[in-house]
Amino acid sequence: MNNFHWESNRLFCENVPLSDLAGEYGTPSFIYSTAAICNRIELLQGALESFDCTICFSVKSNSNLSILQCAASRGIGADIVSGGELFRALKAGIPPGSIVFSGVGKTVRELEYALASSIRMFNVESESELHLLSSIAERMGKIAPVALRINPDVDARTHQFTTTGKKGNKFGIPFTDVERIYTYATELPNIQPLGIDVHLGSPITSLEPYREALDVLSGLIINLRANGIAIETLDLGGGFGITYSDEKPFTPVQFADLIRPYIDKLDCRLIVEPGRYIMGNSAVLLTRITYVKKSYGKTFYICDAGMNDCIRPPLYDAYHAITPVEKTGTAPAEPVDIVGPICESSDFLAKGREMPVAHAGDILAVMSCGAYCFTMASNYNSRPRACEILVNGDSSRVIRERETWEDLVRGESLPGTG
Ligand SMILES: *Cc1c(COP(=O)(O)O)cnc(C)c1O
Repeated sequence: MNNFHWESNRLFCENVPLSDLAGEYGTPSFIYSTAAICNRIELLQGALESFDCTICFSVKSNSNLSILQCAASRGIGADIVSGGELFRALKAGIPPGSIVFSGVGKTVRELEYALASSIRMFNVESESELHLLSSIAERMGKIAPVALRINPDVDARTHQFTTTGKKGNKFGIPFTDVERIYTYATELPNIQPLGIDVHLGSPITSLEPYREALDVLSGLIINLRANGIAIETLDLGGGFGITYSDEKPFTPVQFADLIRPYIDKLDCRLIVEPGRYIMGNSAVLLTRITYVKKSYGKTFYICDAGMNDCIRPPLYDAYHAITPVEKTGTAPAEPVDIVGPICESSDFLAKGREMPVAHAGDILAVMSCGAYCFTMASNYNSRPRACEILVNGDSSRVIRERETWEDLVRGESLPGTG
């Protein structure tokens, strides 16, 4: 996390000490680095520039309008999985021609909205979805550009809850049904089958799953073309891993080297859908220790951020490095559990973690919280969601206000009060 660095015992985001930000905006708060986001985008664009490639940022990883606008202004498109994400992407200025729509459960209303918006491609995940899309497109007098999302039965070698391209997952169309459904698609007058799509899971640190998927897909594309189905776009999904702890994920250049021979041979357009790669290391979650508690010989740092702010540790067994934002020089204590205030035993940020002695009132930075943290945040225990702050050089601004208690009850009503 290059844009989060130490200077004389204080952790900085770009040129701003995190302790100052905690003072100014309070805690819990998400702090994003503009430079980190831009750096990741440039690395991807640099590696993929020799391809006819659209980078569609996975909006579900981070859907803040300012983050989307930051990506849009650098030529990035969007991978969306709901009407709400389409609304956000369009509002942030992402051109519809750079938006692809994934997801297993697209509703009538969502398909109508996406058709009316003339998005680049629908990544269709079932025969019934294809059928529905076709009938809606017909009614609206539109042609729907379609890729079928294939379940290639490839093991992404990641957590069982985050593999998506394997037998037994709900995602995609079984390999064995693919040719039949493409043939059916060509018979539907308002469907234009032009792409093929996979998303294998996340985070993926090895190139091997992509190689396996490319072997399957390239054979399929050749067969489909031989049958007169003009596949011109290959969407390889997202899932590019990052370093949370000591992982050594492949680089965009290594990814480009892997895919080059396949893409050259197939002579097709390319789409990738990274989310975590762009955002994961680009933010921290700041939290203040409310209490230090000892219980049956164990030490708990009870923080003001919990699973409602960052659910990845309990949900996926995910590791996030955690550090005080000021080094005190105190030697590491015994391992501690870093937990939140929520009334659940699964409310933890880290368990059995070795870290310097900290005290009530200290600010901790939970590292690598830019992806799948705020977007998964909830109001459980009637806790207002944290604010989001975007740092750029010396300056910072609120890109989402901290919610208030009034926000919590917005839309609720009592009898007789409307
Ligand atoms: C979640 C998702 C992505 C993004 O995954 P990352 O690990 O954030 O890159 C891309 N495509 C689809 C279809 C997804 O569901």
